[in-house]
Amino acid sequence: MHLKRLELLGFKSFAQKTVLDFPGGIAGIVGPNGSGKSNVIDSVRWILGEREAKNLRGVKAEDLIFAGTQKRPRMGMAQVSLTFDNSSGFFPVDYNEVTIVRRIDRDGISQYFLNKSEIRLKDIVEFFAKARLGTRGLAIINQGESDLFVKASPQQRREMIEEILGLRQYQLKKHEAERKLKNTTINAEKVKAMVEEIAPHLRFLKRQASKWEKLSDIEKDLKDSEDIYFRNKFKEINEGLEKFNPKINEIDQKNSEKAKELRELQVVLEKIEKGQPQQQQSHFGDIRSKREQLLSQRSILEKELGKLEAKLEFISAPSEGKVIVVEPAFLEEVKKDIKNIIQESDLGAVHNLLNNLLAKIDKSLGFEEKKENPELAEIEKTKNELTGKLEAISKEFNDLSTLESESTGSLEKFNVEFKKAFEDVENKKDEISVLESEKNRLLLEIERFNLKMQDLEMQAGQAGRNMSDFKIGLENVAPIGDLMELERKMLKLRAEIAGIGEIDQALITEAKETETRHNFLSSQLADLEKATKDLDALIKELDQKIHNDFTAALKKINEEFEKFFDLMFGGGRAKMRLEEPEKEKPETENENAEKEIKAETEEDETEQVELGIEIDLSLPRKKIKGLEMLSGGEKSLVSIAALFALISVSPPPFLVLDEVDAALDEKNTRRFAEVIKNFSKKTQFLIVTHNRATMESSDILYGVTMEEDGVSKVLSLKLEG
Ligand code: ATP
Repeated sequence: MHLKRLELLGFKSFAQKTVLDFPGGIAGIVGPNGSGKSNVIDSVRWILGEREAKNLRGVKAEDLIFAGTQKRPRMGMAQVSLTFDNSSGFFPVDYNEVTIVRRIDRDGISQYFLNKSEIRLKDIVEFFAKARLGTRGLAIINQGESDLFVKASPQQRREMIEEILGLRQYQLKKHEAERKLKNTTINAEKVKAMVEEIAPHLRFLKRQASKWEKLSDIEKDLKDSEDIYFRNKFKEINEGLEKFNPKINEIDQKNSEKAKELRELQVVLEKIEKGQPQQQQSHFGDIRSKREQLLSQRSILEKELGKLEAKLEFISAPSEGKVIVVEPAFLEEVKKDIKNIIQESDLGAVHNLLNNLLAKIDKSLGFEEKKENPELAEIEKTKNELTGKLEAISKEFNDLSTLESESTGSLEKFNVEFKKAFEDVENKKDEISVLESEKNRLLLEIERFNLKMQDLEMQAGQAGRNMSDFKIGLENVAPIGDLMELERKMLKLRAEIAGIGEIDQALITEAKETETRHNFLSSQLADLEKATKDLDALIKELDQKIHNDFTAALKKINEEFEKFFDLMFGGGRAKMRLEEPEKEKPETENENAEKEIKAETEEDETEQVELGIEIDLSLPRKKIKGLEMLSGGEKSLVSIAALFALISVSPPPFLVLDEVDAALDEKNTRRFAEVIKNFSKKTQFLIVTHNRATMESSDILYGVTMEEDGVSKVLSLKLEG
């Protein structure tokens, strides 16, 4: 890697495009006072990322742009580009040649480009830090600052050493990590405060919410229970209802069959009724009245006959005193007849037998001859007539009985048939009635189920549920053992809900939101704390690396420092050492000002307390120990010896020195030129000088001139071949 070229356009006094090629080694820049030599140095400092106008000998950024002269108008922008040969891959980019461009316009807009791609200032600073170049260290020493190292604070010395050792890239990383850590810590504290602030309120809200959660759990439980209960209940009632339909259908079917049968039986009955014997009742009445009539006639006739027989007996009675001899055989015969009469039950027959007996007795008493008595004959005649009438009546009785028994026979037949048909009809009616009552019983049952269903619907309605929700998907309803148990549970849950009472929904919403916020903040806090830990670890790691590298390098630097000190002073001793840790370092006014500026810039680098570098020395033949007591020239010599020590341990790609040799006496100027020449094998030098020895050691010499137009121009004066 080497610095190939520097191009300026519109930068300070370089109004026109000016190119300085560097073949390597030492490039000397010479020219009269005020011609613009230092402007070249400024351009390099600027492109390395200098942000402070004062370090570029300006007040504001605009001062970097060609301001115009009487003969030439001002420019709108300034641009500087630095080109490196990167064929060795020194810079970690895939280019053989790397050109860095920095540009600024009058609006203060500053841009960086790496091979035409725009990059950030931060990237540029890091890019050069890796190359051990930067604006903090000794890479660029301005005019009049050859004693820079001695004049610097211990802390600044440390920074200079770190830059040249290439540790600045780690410092930058560390500062970046520290900056992030600081922000992260601030954020974490803010978040923590917020978490702590909402925690008590959240606890209160959570208590409310837990009540609500409990309520919603209970409500859910209740809803689930209701789902099961109503579905099962509905299914149960529905199935109950469905069972009746086939039964009723069956009854209806049977009923219509029975009704048909009844009609047929009724037809049969009607037919039988129509076939009932005519005026049968009156017919029997007639027989009855006829018989009664005959009986009364017979009674009259028999009375008359009795009277006649008594009269006849009187007339035919034998005269007083007449002895009638009765044969015993005859008496025996009478006794026999009487016995027969006694045994006879029929009154008519008794009568006849008695008449016969009477005639027999009359005959035996010899009364037959009295018949010739006309009254007796008359009586006999009447008696015979009466007997004839009685016989006729008796015959009529017999006829009547025959008629009656005949009539009774046909009535009985009718009655049997009628009775059977009537009973058939009645039985059928009974059967129908049994079916009807069974149907009625079933209808009553249906009604009972319907009432149950209505009751269930009412229950659902009271629970704020809609029955239609439970009427679907019944095939998937799992049967539940004890619905009563479930009902009890539902009652219990409803009571619990009522017990919890009203819940402020706004509070619940707030609880949810607050918890979400709390969770968010907590996780943010956890992230921040993790980031803090990671950053802490990174910082420690970087610290360790810087410390180790620094300590190792410091030893080598001191060896070189001693040598160069001896060379410049012709004896004496010098040593760099880390300052005492306990020591409070008073900050110079300068440092304070710098910190203020830093704080305002985006590249805020967190201040960190690292041990600075003190210089212990003893000059030959002098008792001077403190740096303050050194002369100006001595300070420059110590600084230059330190610079040489540093670059011999860690040579940077190039160094830019503006009249650093100005304070040196002739002898030391020569030594300076020799040493530089020696270093130029590894490090390129860009040196502004008025010194002949230095000029002579240069590999290329540029002359800077400024003519009437106030524009600097560069011309190559000497090239060593
Ligand atoms: P010396 O040898 O005395 O140190 P020098 O060669 O280093 O001088 P510089 O300091 O580089 O000189 O140049 C200063 C010149 O640059 C001045 O003449 C100044 O007017 C000019 N200059 C500085 N800034 C601008 C600018 N923005 N526009 C135009 N000219 C500028």
